[in-house]
Amino acid sequence: MTMSSMGRIRSEEFMERFDGFLSKYIPPREKWLPPDEALYGVRDLYRVEPEEAGRLRFKAIKYTFKHHYEKNRFFNKLCKEKGVSPDEIKKEEDFLKIPLLPDKFFKDYPEGKGFAIWIANIYTGDLPNIFIRKRNPGIDDIIDAFNEKGLSISYSSGTSGRLTFIPRDKRTLDRAVYCGAKGFACMTYPKWDPDRIHGFLSFYARNTNMFAGVLMGMLSSVLKHLEYGILLDRRVTAGMLQTAMMRKRSIIVRGASLYMDLKARRRFMGWLKERDRRGDDVIIFGAPFFLNHIMDLLDRKSLYFDFGEGSFAVTGGGWKIREDIRITMRRFREKVEKVFGIPQTNCIDVYGMVEGNGFMVHCPEGHYLHIPYSCYYPIVLDKNGEPVSYGEKGRFAFLDPLATSYPGFIISGDEVRLLEHCPVCDRPGPVLEPEIERARGEEVRGCAEEMRRMLGYGD
Ligand SMILES: [Zn+2]
Repeated sequence: MTMSSMGRIRSEEFMERFDGFLSKYIPPREKWLPPDEALYGVRDLYRVEPEEAGRLRFKAIKYTFKHHYEKNRFFNKLCKEKGVSPDEIKKEEDFLKIPLLPDKFFKDYPEGKGFAIWIANIYTGDLPNIFIRKRNPGIDDIIDAFNEKGLSISYSSGTSGRLTFIPRDKRTLDRAVYCGAKGFACMTYPKWDPDRIHGFLSFYARNTNMFAGVLMGMLSSVLKHLEYGILLDRRVTAGMLQTAMMRKRSIIVRGASLYMDLKARRRFMGWLKERDRRGDDVIIFGAPFFLNHIMDLLDRKSLYFDFGEGSFAVTGGGWKIREDIRITMRRFREKVEKVFGIPQTNCIDVYGMVEGNGFMVHCPEGHYLHIPYSCYYPIVLDKNGEPVSYGEKGRFAFLDPLATSYPGFIISGDEVRLLEHCPVCDRPGPVLEPEIERARGEEVRGCAEEMRRMLGYGD
């Protein structure tokens, strides 16, 4: 047996085992639709043979475009205004005819009872009927009522305090969770051992509709051993998040966050020492600002660890560590290596957003953000909304066929550079350059920023 065929068999076994952990997020094969084929049907999301990826992506996007065209009244109207119908999508170049929604669209909601009607307008297909007892329901009351009927309406926010609401049905949410978890597994295979590794999540709110929190719920399926730094059992509501992002915090909240910070630091240090003593592998999940803060503390105390090759640091949500200060990823990776003894190749950043269900994940070799290209179609646009060539900077947009319950054809507020291939590793698909910034005039957002503000770091 050659080395490469051995590697393949092992990879198949590893991925099969990983899919076993995620089985509750995978629909039975006989119920797969074209987007499911493009996501669940490939072994490694970032190593699909390009022709095969193109075939899967085309079928998935064409299928989903038709679905929204037929079942979403508002989207149908938009398509008719632009003079495009599913029959016109005959080849990949025709994807550019599909109307894109600016991300701002998903935050253009009215308060009060009108909110439910607004959600109904965005939603593709038939929404469950809800009954709200309160005379003047708040946004959280309306979301709760829908979510009790099996939806997952989640949100994320920006510095304006306006939230972005995305209504996901179970199918869409399952795909998002799977894509994020599997993306990580694909990039880190075969370096970690699911039986040995111990996970630490620096902040987790059990009871929330914040999108990042909803996603993190899957970690307990993937990891046998998982601990939390700050575990909030208290409800985190849309109102609390808005207040934090707009920085209208009371002294009580400030005090509570200082207390939580102290508690989280102590737990984290205790956990690190315990893992070190037992010789475990670790996987540390956290927003960059929090991990950076912990690493600085450890460094000051000259407390260093040597977790090694089988351990990882996984980040997401943005690189601001204090108001107006970003840490560079390179500097961050150097610190991780120095303080935790985790090799720089094992620092993995994940990029995604509340409006999408696909996740771009760092390759260990070059730290470029690889796109799951069998089920995601990236587009970069210039100021006039025209696509730019590879390597040119522009606004990130994407066609996301994984979204069944809302049209996932979206223009984001992020500035990116798309490259046809990774300049460092041999994975065949397109990548984004790792430094992603908000476009000028766009408010600051990202799940790390939400947490940073809720915890009151760097004010
Ligand atoms: Zn790469």
